[in-house]
Amino acid sequence: MDINGLKFGIIGGGIGGLAAALALRHQGAHVTVLEQAPELAEVGAGLQISANGMVVLRALNVVGKTPGAGVRSFGTVLRDYRAGRFVSEIPEPAAGPTYYYHRADLLGLLHKAALREGVEFRLGSRVTEVCEHPSGVEIALKGGASLHVDCAIAADGGRSEIRSSLNGPEVPEFTHQVAWRATIPWARRDQKPCAVLTMGPGRHVVTYPLRDHTLMNLVAVEERSDWHEEGWRLRGDPEELRARFADFGGLVGEMLEQVQEPNIWALFLRPVAERWQNGRVVLLGDAAHPTLPFMAQGACLALEDAWVLMRSFRDSTDVTQALAAYEACRRPRAQRVVAAAGANARNFHLRGPMRLAAQAALMALGPRLARRYEWIYSHDATV
Ligand SMILES: Cc1cc2nc3c(=O)[nH]c(=O)nc-3n(C[C@H](O)[C@H](O)[C@H](O)COP(=O)(O)OP(=O)(O)OC[C@H]3O[C@@H](n4cnc5c(N)ncnc54)[C@H](O)[C@@H]3O)c2cc1C
Repeated sequence: MDINGLKFGIIGGGIGGLAAALALRHQGAHVTVLEQAPELAEVGAGLQISANGMVVLRALNVVGKTPGAGVRSFGTVLRDYRAGRFVSEIPEPAAGPTYYYHRADLLGLLHKAALREGVEFRLGSRVTEVCEHPSGVEIALKGGASLHVDCAIAADGGRSEIRSSLNGPEVPEFTHQVAWRATIPWARRDQKPCAVLTMGPGRHVVTYPLRDHTLMNLVAVEERSDWHEEGWRLRGDPEELRARFADFGGLVGEMLEQVQEPNIWALFLRPVAERWQNGRVVLLGDAAHPTLPFMAQGACLALEDAWVLMRSFRDSTDVTQALAAYEACRRPRAQRVVAAAGANARNFHLRGPMRLAAQAALMALGPRLARRYEWIYSHDATV
């Protein structure tokens, strides 16, 4: 169908919302992004965008052949925690390199491209309700204003209220895992930058460089049951972080020493939504398929969603059919990636003999590990 002039309201100005806004605007749609925050800003942290996400960023003209502010990755190195002993190396996927972005930089690139294309932004606009009518959708905002659109896209993140309104209330399951994240100044430049995954009993740390190798991104995950706060912006105590990872040595130990203002949050498991759409309202990104961070795929899936949603309109005769086609196309892949991320949560934290046996297997498998996930990275949502 021709969506030229059709009105879309996008709830949420995260990576998924902005990518969808841009994709639909490229087809001539009139797009308004409603974001509750007063500005589009991300807490300092990194994102790995693998080949399947990069292909969408390129198709949307957000990045060209060069990756904008991203640092090219040459693979992942696995290390043991005590002295940072080398365990194995996973080369870059055959599908193409991953790039490391500061979240604020990637969001900035998407925002700039969307403004250039004429996407409208209403910041400080919290959506309170979405009501479908025969002629369209009424999106109600906090404070009493509302917006009438032909289609509403809920890209309102892992704790999406629109998902609850389509699917009923949900009870998220605490994973008994808590994540810390921080960036630190780090001027040492590797010839071939890699993500380093350092594995210890009940804990792991992932590090990779950002912003032309001036910053190091650090995510530390521990099994723990006495912390249940889910907000991304909660400040943690750097001394507590160091104490909890005190037996992590080598380079990662040095990095932990430099952390000053970590964020901390508890990881909760929410299922892939049973119902993604309802005639003229549809879920996208984490709102449809909340994903644990252990495959580094949440943002990449949101980018893929955005492209497929736009294409579903191109290939359908009306809004309802387009949304159903989008869900049918995206659900199996999202479910498979979400399951792979959940399995990794266990693999990283093995203890005692299980850990040593797993390390021996990792050493033996080496480069073949990359092939195991090639189905994720080689997926091209734009063809
Ligand atoms: C530690 C960590 C590391 C990660 N690393 C990676 C990685 O390396 N690679 C990767 O691909 N993914 C990664 N992810 C996942 C990725 O961050 C998310 O999957 C991605 O940000 C989801 O984007 P989204 O647009 O769907 O939602 P979000 O980014 O959560 O955006 C939702 C937006 O909606 C707004 N909003 C919510 N409710 C309302 C409302 N009622 N009205 C208006 N606005 C509203 C919010 O303010 C927010 O701006 C990681 C996640 C974590 C936690």
